[in-house]
Amino acid sequence: MATSAALADALKALVAPLSFAARGGFAGLAKLKDFEGTVRAAVERARKAGDAGAAGLLDGLSREGDAFDAQPLDERKKRVARLAGLLAMVPLTLPEELGGPAAQLSLTGLPPPAPKATAKPAPAQKMLELPLPDAPPATPLELPLAGLGARHVVDGLRARGIKSAGDLLYFLPRRYEDRRDVRPIGTLLGGASVVAVGTIQKMGAVFKGRRRAYEMVIGDGSGTIRAQWWRFTQGMFKKYAIGARVIVSGEVREHPRFGKSLSHPDLELIGADTDDALETAAAQDSFGRIIPIYTDVEGVSQRALRRLVRKAVEAAAPAIVDPLPQELREKRELLSAREALTFAHFPPDDTDLRVLDGRASPAHRRLVYEELFLLQCGLALKKRGVKIEPGIAFKADDAAIARAASRLPFKLTNAQRRALGQIAADMAKSEPMNRLLQGDVGSGKTAVALCAALLAIESGYQAALMAPTELLAEQHHRNLSKLLEGTGVRCALVTGSLKARAREDADRALRTGYVQLAIGTHALAEEATRFSNLGLVVVDEQHRFGVLQRASLINKGARPDVLVMTATPIPRTLAMTVYGDLDASVIDELPPGRTPIVTRVYGEKQRAKAYELVRGQLAAGRQAYFVLPLVEESEKLVDIKDAIGEHERLARDVFPEFRLGLVHGRLSAEERDAVMDRFRSGEVQLLVATTVIEVGVDVPNASVMVVEHAERFGLSQLHQLRGRVGRGAAKSLCLLLAGYAQSAVGRERLAVMEATTDGFRIAEEDLRLRGMGELVGTRQSGMPDLAVADLARDQAILQDVRDDAFALIAADPELQRPEHRALARALYERWAGKLSLARVG
Ligand code: ADP
Ligand code: MG
Repeated sequence: MATSAALADALKALVAPLSFAARGGFAGLAKLKDFEGTVRAAVERARKAGDAGAAGLLDGLSREGDAFDAQPLDERKKRVARLAGLLAMVPLTLPEELGGPAAQLSLTGLPPPAPKATAKPAPAQKMLELPLPDAPPATPLELPLAGLGARHVVDGLRARGIKSAGDLLYFLPRRYEDRRDVRPIGTLLGGASVVAVGTIQKMGAVFKGRRRAYEMVIGDGSGTIRAQWWRFTQGMFKKYAIGARVIVSGEVREHPRFGKSLSHPDLELIGADTDDALETAAAQDSFGRIIPIYTDVEGVSQRALRRLVRKAVEAAAPAIVDPLPQELREKRELLSAREALTFAHFPPDDTDLRVLDGRASPAHRRLVYEELFLLQCGLALKKRGVKIEPGIAFKADDAAIARAASRLPFKLTNAQRRALGQIAADMAKSEPMNRLLQGDVGSGKTAVALCAALLAIESGYQAALMAPTELLAEQHHRNLSKLLEGTGVRCALVTGSLKARAREDADRALRTGYVQLAIGTHALAEEATRFSNLGLVVVDEQHRFGVLQRASLINKGARPDVLVMTATPIPRTLAMTVYGDLDASVIDELPPGRTPIVTRVYGEKQRAKAYELVRGQLAAGRQAYFVLPLVEESEKLVDIKDAIGEHERLARDVFPEFRLGLVHGRLSAEERDAVMDRFRSGEVQLLVATTVIEVGVDVPNASVMVVEHAERFGLSQLHQLRGRVGRGAAKSLCLLLAGYAQSAVGRERLAVMEATTDGFRIAEEDLRLRGMGELVGTRQSGMPDLAVADLARDQAILQDVRDDAFALIAADPELQRPEHRALARALYERWAGKLSLARVG
């Protein structure tokens, strides 16, 4: 996010008056004086900060502040909320009262533009307001934890965002441990998780080699076992003494010389009589039952956590009002929230542990359902919000589509035609388009986007294409300029590395409307870039942009249509969840004349063979890529040195007879362009590159790619890289050199690359093996994290959930019905502050 400290500093002045106004259900609002002046002054100061990426944000703020004091109370409330929502984009610390109203009121997405003559009158523009009481009564769920447990436990949890009993209820066990069976110590086997009862026979600090440890020897007549702590304080053992009876649990290690031991076991003091004692311990949730194990909380033991959770469950569970309506629960046969949460924390003793750990119990199913349901409801609400804001109705009938398509030097594939049809239909409507265009590398998305841009331009609007890297922007510019020759459509390149003069020219041409198509990087979103009438925004490779940059660009037009292209195939599950509010078009067919790429995974021993294959291709007049892994965002100096060294080594020792070139992220734009031009022209035959070539390079004569340390790349990333070859008719080869430390999972992963060239399958596989966090920047996309649900595992129910959620929101879009009140409240809590940001991505 492009936010300077000066910007944040200037806007900080707004926080105090806003939170004053919002406090106590907007009680302070009436007392706010000349607030429009305050906003104006703050925005002026902020503009001086010269943070170009924030232009859209500042425009939004000044719009909301404009004539603020003259607005009716209701409107002022909404504006306070929207102002808070906008400020939430700036890294300021907002007081809690501002988190509240923003989320409560901004479900329609970004603040609406100043009313235009064309805007439809209310009720179409009515904001969605969730029926929440201004000051919801405190329920046991909101019970602060402070009353329930020790100070350090409560503090530890607060640091993780767990503040109330309700929060703690939803902090679910990561896994479970079976402590039902108490076994004689003599029968314990190495490797097993055990629970044992015995007397302390010896205790004290000892030296194990050069390390100090605390050791207890515990025996029960059938044998003895040693309990050891490597990290300890004497205080931990104060209450124990030789002869005391304890109950202990952990994993048994067996050493041929030193016998059986337990490392860092759970230990509990018990009374003389075992049966009684077990009961006491069980009541403390530590032994004799299935035990929930939580994600570690700094400074808090599992036992303390369990106790606190037990208290929270007892205090708060009866008060839970189920967010899922009764009718739905019956239809899908789901447990109530109370039952499910109680079960999930403290499963009955007869539960199958594997079912629990697989999160397949009815309780888990219910909680997964709930989590996904709230997500989908949020998306459904947001989607409605977007849909009711008026936008531009382009002229995009069949004739116009045909004219646009005829500009291309090739015939669109069926898949491209279908996608373009869907896009054109959206563009023809007055609702703003918010569509995702997904398709494999080289499937022809850019061609489709160009047609969409031509539709906008023919209707008299400007279009902008924002690419994630300069390299890609330049390439788009080069290709599209060529395609547009002779059409009268003028395009301009806008990137950060343009010379001041060239940049000024481009900016002027856009401001005056002389240029209809802007192609560039995030520089397009900077303040200097203004449009005369921006109607269509195409964002390529969208997850690389910060939300703010996209919002800034989109705010430069009056509700422009938005088309987001992604070459990272997004698995269906993910598309539905994370991008569930976008309409999606898929290009699932490659243009004709491509030869499939053959992929091979080679170990270190086959390196020479890989070099020979490359040599063969080069000798036949083809070109090659050598890709080196780098820490993606921050190309570190060390890595660059590696790249330089590797380039030298290859040039000197391996391919002395060929011409080599090197590109990496630390080159200046000119240096990089020079190398790329030489590669494109064929002068450079072998290009050593860091992942900067991941997107965009289009050199049809390149027929082989070698990826070093392929195991360090994500599958989808490898797939994208691989798409750089196989662009011409020649048979192409991708060689993945895997490093020495290959794990089984690593091997399995790379084998997927050999087996398929289907980007969607690869993405699904990536999701399965790595989880979703790494696949898309979920944080960037403004989506809440998933706690219980697992998109790979829970695919099966996602469709049901989605159907249910969208049906419910269609039937009761403002959640006014009494049976939906609890849902409204849960949505409000779950989605606080997130819906407005998600609109743009
Ligand atoms: P993407 O943006 O999906 O990676 P592009 O639109 O850049 O794909 O297309 C990749 C290459 O294929 C380009 O060289 C483009 O000119 C070409 N191309 C696109 N569509 C077609 C088509 N229908 N027929 C032939 N070539 C096509
Ligand atoms: Mg492309």
